[in-house]
Amino acid sequence: MHWFADLKKNGPSVSVPSATTDTDESVGNGFRPTSPTMHVPPLHRAGRFIGRACGRLEQILHNNFWRAVAAALFAGVSGCATDSAYPPSTSTVERPAGLQLILDHRRAPTNDLIEVFICDVSLPTSDPLFGDLPLRLPLTATTVATELDDNVRPFFEALSHGLYHPRFMAGSTLRITATETHADCVERALDASNPAAGAVLVVATAENLASEPGGWGRPGSPCAVDFCPAATTRRAVYVGASDFHPDNGPVPLLDLIEHELGHTLDLPHSGDPGVNQHASALDMMSNSAAPRDAQPRRRNAQDTIAIDRAALGWLPASDIRVASPGGDVFDLAASTGPAGLRLLVLPVDRFAFLTVEYLRADGFDDFLPAGGIAVHRIDQSGAACGRSSAGEGLCTGIDRVQTTLGSPSPHLELLNRSGASWVLDGWTVTVHGIGTTAQVEVRPTQR
Ligand SMILES: [Zn+2]
Repeated sequence: MHWFADLKKNGPSVSVPSATTDTDESVGNGFRPTSPTMHVPPLHRAGRFIGRACGRLEQILHNNFWRAVAAALFAGVSGCATDSAYPPSTSTVERPAGLQLILDHRRAPTNDLIEVFICDVSLPTSDPLFGDLPLRLPLTATTVATELDDNVRPFFEALSHGLYHPRFMAGSTLRITATETHADCVERALDASNPAAGAVLVVATAENLASEPGGWGRPGSPCAVDFCPAATTRRAVYVGASDFHPDNGPVPLLDLIEHELGHTLDLPHSGDPGVNQHASALDMMSNSAAPRDAQPRRRNAQDTIAIDRAALGWLPASDIRVASPGGDVFDLAASTGPAGLRLLVLPVDRFAFLTVEYLRADGFDDFLPAGGIAVHRIDQSGAACGRSSAGEGLCTGIDRVQTTLGSPSPHLELLNRSGASWVLDGWTVTVHGIGTTAQVEVRPTQR
């Protein structure tokens, strides 16, 4: 397996070779009471043009491409569209190999017991994560577990439409000495965790420095059976004390924890890969603090994007359509809703495709200025996450590369003006109407 690029920030004691770890630097910065909002300048610029007519050349290219995709699927590289685990789409178009990889992903558990530990940080401490910050909050595992069970569990139950039920149980308080680190504390929590717990969530009594990540989450090593205890997989979340500061009021800030729990389910970021992995306001797995920027009393994150829902089994394959090489017109239901055609896939190459979905400004996305069409490029080729040789594998799960397209960061400008188009990766996406559903036309673009 592999290591995440920023793993060393968490110290040498994070030593699970098959797990990747996320440090959430950008999100963490946005969570500190002492630095309430920190936006990264909008560096990302994606193509955004008025639509063009379809072209014969593009049609031919796509037809050739399609034969290549079909050949890859029949080669059995990563499953096929007739996999009995997923009902066949009514679409007559074969699924791209990259989409099948995601549909074959291990779905989220229905019930997920997460054990809460408090890491009591000595004062002073040599852990550079905390520096010389003097604050130590009197947190208890019982109080934190209750707060999360009262707030984070219903968030995920609503987001997943009743398919995912995280439950938080109180562990204990662990003390680290002046020479130990928070990573030592996480390892100790994992070693001490209840055999019924699938993950641990460790909260430090000290704030992380504003220059350091606010937390991280990792899925741990793969589990080949129905359930594996956290002590075995090392599946874990760590956050500093900031989100639990009394200044936040009776309910702590929850969006960072919700984001990190997404990583424990093997969800990757979306946004501007290589520039800012937390650039997008559209996804819990990007800048999860974005809703609070618009709604200061907000505590929960926003919703997540359709491809992540599909990866976790919260959006069935029957609600996904793959566009034919010549394109078509589709009527999309809101991707965060409970049913209907919610995800449109536009093939790009063997392991890359575009997702087209309708995000409405309601529910957990009610902070959006306006609803509209969102487009992401999903790339699982090995090169997408810096793997140079075929032997290093594809970029799947938490390493999947998901780029938010169509508008600059924070990507709040969705496609919603009737007749407007985006031209992206060989496809022209045009919106014809926005209401309860969204009417979208997709065509191969003339080059
Ligand atoms: Zn993250």
